[in-house]
Amino acid sequence: MASLSDLPIRDDLRGQSPYGAPQKHVRVQLNVNENSHPIPEDVARDIVESVAGAVLTLNRYPDREFTALREGLADYLGHGLTAAQLWAANGSNEIIQQLLQAFGGPGRSVLAFPPTYSMHGIIARGTGTTWLTAERDPDYRLSVETVVAAIEAHRPDLVFLCAPNNPTGTPVPLEVIEAAYAASDGIVFVDEAYAEFMPADAPSAITLLPDRHRLVVSRTMSKAFAFAGARVGYLAADPAIADALRLVRLPYHLSALTQAAAVAALRHAPEMLAMVDDIRGQRDRLLRELPALGYRAHESWSNFVLFDGLADPHATFEALLERDVIIRDVGLPGALRVTAGTEQETTLFLDALAELGAGGAR
Ligand code: PMP
Repeated sequence: MASLSDLPIRDDLRGQSPYGAPQKHVRVQLNVNENSHPIPEDVARDIVESVAGAVLTLNRYPDREFTALREGLADYLGHGLTAAQLWAANGSNEIIQQLLQAFGGPGRSVLAFPPTYSMHGIIARGTGTTWLTAERDPDYRLSVETVVAAIEAHRPDLVFLCAPNNPTGTPVPLEVIEAAYAASDGIVFVDEAYAEFMPADAPSAITLLPDRHRLVVSRTMSKAFAFAGARVGYLAADPAIADALRLVRLPYHLSALTQAAAVAALRHAPEMLAMVDDIRGQRDRLLRELPALGYRAHESWSNFVLFDGLADPHATFEALLERDVIIRDVGLPGALRVTAGTEQETTLFLDALAELGAGGAR
């Protein structure tokens, strides 16, 4: 078998690593910020019925404009949005890829503030977009001054803000997004994959969309909606953004099965989202109990918590894995990230960590 170096691969891809969250079948899976709660059975049945109807149409290409899905998403988001302002794809990862295909690419740049979602940089590379980074404030925060100074220094074609941020959980104040938009003349992209886990009264960047045609806010059904396996992500923006994405998307990119499943799930949005309060409760429990075990837990508006104070994060990761618990080593010194699971999973994680003793060393 040949190796990558034997192939005439693009020079800029040589030596790069693919996305690599381990996929292991262990009892307690708290490593990729999924929703641990399965879809309620009555909802599952309705989704199956809807998908069964779509199967009968599979001889034809699906609705290229996924009209019913965009209408369902506009209704779900509210804020007076119309279907023309919505766009969807196979996960928000594909949304990001289409955005960079249309607005990034060779000779263009995107500015981000690591540590942030690893796929932002990987998709930038895949699309040939130059990946520029700037430092965050202490405790991974972002202030207006820091963000505006970085935009003025780099003049990027796109600015990526992850709100709340993965892997740190850090909220991004709305005034930071407003200031980034005012300071930039490019696309300001706000990744709100975890928006449903924010405090109920915290405003979304969607409220900033009126009169800001370069602002794009993405969401996903993978997290709060417990729909990661279905692969549905979407964005809200000026309708002209969708026109730009139509130039780069593959025709019929959303299968009839995906569209049918997502439309049915959206009809049951309150039931699909019923576990969000529960998950927030387990996150708040992690924020309380990790410090009681001697760790520092970072403020989180997401369904996960970054905690530090570990002597050897990788050794702790492995020791937890031996106890049938998988969390995430995100490569930050002394730190690991854990997803808030069901009450039972969260208990199993906390008990396993406690067993490891101070600093997570055995
Ligand atoms: N954005 C962020 C910040 C994420 O953490 C993730 C998934 N981990 C995604 C986007 C992508 O999610 P999906 O493609 O499942 O919508």
